[in-house]
Amino acid sequence: MRGEHTIDPMLLQVQNLKKYYPISQGLWGRDAGHVKAVDDVSFDISPGETLGLVGESGCGKTTTGRAILRLIDATSGTVRFKNTDILSLGKKQLRTLRRHMQIIFQDPYGSLNPRLTIGGILSEPLKIHGDKTKDRVADLLNTVGLSPDVARRYPHEFSGGQRQRIGIARALAVKPQFIIADEPVSALDVSIQAQIVNLLQDLQAQFGLAYLFIAHDLSVIKHISNRVAVMYLGKIVELAESQELYDNPQHPYTRALLSSIPIPDPRVRGSRTILTGDVPSPVNVPSGCAFHPRCPEATPDCAHRKPELLDIEPGHSVACILRHN
Ligand code: SF4
Repeated sequence: MRGEHTIDPMLLQVQNLKKYYPISQGLWGRDAGHVKAVDDVSFDISPGETLGLVGESGCGKTTTGRAILRLIDATSGTVRFKNTDILSLGKKQLRTLRRHMQIIFQDPYGSLNPRLTIGGILSEPLKIHGDKTKDRVADLLNTVGLSPDVARRYPHEFSGGQRQRIGIARALAVKPQFIIADEPVSALDVSIQAQIVNLLQDLQAQFGLAYLFIAHDLSVIKHISNRVAVMYLGKIVELAESQELYDNPQHPYTRALLSSIPIPDPRVRGSRTILTGDVPSPVNVPSGCAFHPRCPEATPDCAHRKPELLDIEPGHSVACILRHN
């Protein structure tokens, strides 16, 4: 786990971010409400910091990442990168800003153009931003632990871990300050996952990068995150320093996610919280606390009261009515 979160000027500030998708019904496409994929999400990230963003599939974490980079348009809210309001930028200004903000995708193969050589793939972002490509491609490959000779080869010639290294090199090409790593190790073998997480940590130390590290599993982000935000059905339900979150989780959903991490000790296994049921459809979000149909601590009040995300102590906020006294 990473050290204490230091209070630097913020690199990224996300406030009240929402992404709603309209639902239409019937022959005439009648408006039938919205899917609230991201519903009032706020957090910030300091230079050089890693914020882990965790939750089950469909909780809105990937949509959050894409809305921050404007790969999709947010419904409302603000996203400030070094005090520039990203959501109000024109195309040209956005392109200039994008060199500071990059993304690494989950599927390294799907995100690399199969018709281009590795050299061609790494040269593309350099050309878009008017940078020289000579020598830089070899530098990038060295930086991610690959031989410069691979520049002449094609993506299908590499293993999953090597492709993810190429995806990381492409993100680094324009010397960004901030990278969204969207489930960067989920598609890889467990033995390779640690190598990629270690590489991302080394690059962070070398280049002072800040990460939003998206994962569906708390074990993957444990060692790389300074702070962790847990998402459920479009909302952040708990946010804390990593050490605090892993040692003293307060939201029943966070406790359940931690319980799902395999532990070899059978005595610990006995006291685990097992989540029942699937994540409800975001089309029909349960009333009150959206987690109440699955929550082992739910009370009758939980079906009516919407818990806000409130500080229970400095730097640790939780959205659960049982923790707000
Ligand atoms: Fe569980 Fe109720 Fe807390 Fe929601 S508000 S997490 S249902 S105890």
